[in-house]
Amino acid sequence: MCSLLTDNPIHERMLAENITPAEANWTYPRQSTGEDIYRFMSELYPICRSITGEGARETLRLIGKRIPLKIHEVSSGTAVFDWVVPKEWNIKDAYIKNSQGEKVVDFQKSNLHVISYSIPVHRKISLGELKDHLFALPEHPDWIPYRTSYYKEDWGFCVTHNQLLALNDDEYEVCIDATLEPGNLSYGECYLSGQTTDEVLITTHICHPSLGNDNLSGIAVATHLAKLLRGFQLRYSYRFLFIPATIGSITWLCQNESKLPNIKHGLVVTLLGDAGQSTYKKSRCGIAAIDRAAAHVLKHSGAAYSIVEFHPYGYDERQFCSPGFNLPVGCLMRTPNGCFPEYHTSADDLSFVQPEYLADSFSKCVSILYLLENNGTYLNKNPKCEPQLGKRGLYKAIGGAGDGGVDTLSLLWVLNLSDGKHSLLEIAEKSNLNFVIIKNSADALLRADLLEPIAG
Ligand code: ZN
Repeated sequence: MCSLLTDNPIHERMLAENITPAEANWTYPRQSTGEDIYRFMSELYPICRSITGEGARETLRLIGKRIPLKIHEVSSGTAVFDWVVPKEWNIKDAYIKNSQGEKVVDFQKSNLHVISYSIPVHRKISLGELKDHLFALPEHPDWIPYRTSYYKEDWGFCVTHNQLLALNDDEYEVCIDATLEPGNLSYGECYLSGQTTDEVLITTHICHPSLGNDNLSGIAVATHLAKLLRGFQLRYSYRFLFIPATIGSITWLCQNESKLPNIKHGLVVTLLGDAGQSTYKKSRCGIAAIDRAAAHVLKHSGAAYSIVEFHPYGYDERQFCSPGFNLPVGCLMRTPNGCFPEYHTSADDLSFVQPEYLADSFSKCVSILYLLENNGTYLNKNPKCEPQLGKRGLYKAIGGAGDGGVDTLSLLWVLNLSDGKHSLLEIAEKSNLNFVIIKNSADALLRADLLEPIAG
């Protein structure tokens, strides 16, 4: 826990008013936003998504009702670096029936029951053969695991361990009414123009079926971020990508190499709705502005958090941070992938995520973007000794701060370090003050003509 925040009047007010960052009109109703994000997740939850197919398309259509979204279709067979866009997979139904004709496993009850990308099958088999195609979790006998077979043509069912135990020596009818045929890979792109063509890239994966934290939280938070940013005057342009994991980012990178020099900051958002603490995974470079911005926001969030070094496993940061690109892209999540038992199981459902945690993650994303948008470097126009702040009314200049002590200190930090070499973020880091306080002080000093911005 960071105790500094309790001494910080502006942040206290931000927390009390449930808005963030309050001082620059980046305001929104925090609680209802968390509820909206959760509601959108609930709407997306029943859809059977995969890396291609109608489930991904339907998901993109629903995102497109909320933000301007261009849906791209890339043909199966398209070469993308060392990969090939796979065939398109669609599924209508699937079940396992016993010899009495009773459905003992039913896709209509959970789309996790079918291994994603299972090839079609319809035949009668023995229990022994069936068991070669069944997957369960003995340690969690009521949970259905989530499994895929994207790049190896195979079929199978995921069942609860209790379902598996209940199967008798019998003849079973297995049916997977699916198609795996040439088609397209679909992804969505939302581009918001800012004052410059320099970009912030925000991506999330859209390829998981009925799983809550792993993929729906990221989709819903990213959608609401785009919706919020649309209402703001932006310095950066923003590119939101809603893509199937791995093959989606590889496809986008392959087809958009010319745009990559514009990307100045990037964030993969995922796993944002569980009760665990926030985790930021650094970009490959480790000291990019996004890494420092995320670290600063988490440090001043008033809650426990962790920051982990880049590692080449996880989500699409693996592709964005591959050595041929080495883009400044980090990943914001709560409990990391594989570090909670519900991960990739039916227990990662809508009860595993809560609006309050979604709101908290959303607020941290907003604060990170606010910081990137408002970071800048200034020059103190009165560098020989301190300027007299009192005669300029600066002791009371910071909106709403009851006690001028902290703000006066931040004014002094900004004045002292605004030598054209330190950004506001660096001043915030050195002073151990919240970036919002430092930014407000810089604004007050600008109004008093004591600072001037440095271009670039
Ligand atoms: Zn996953």
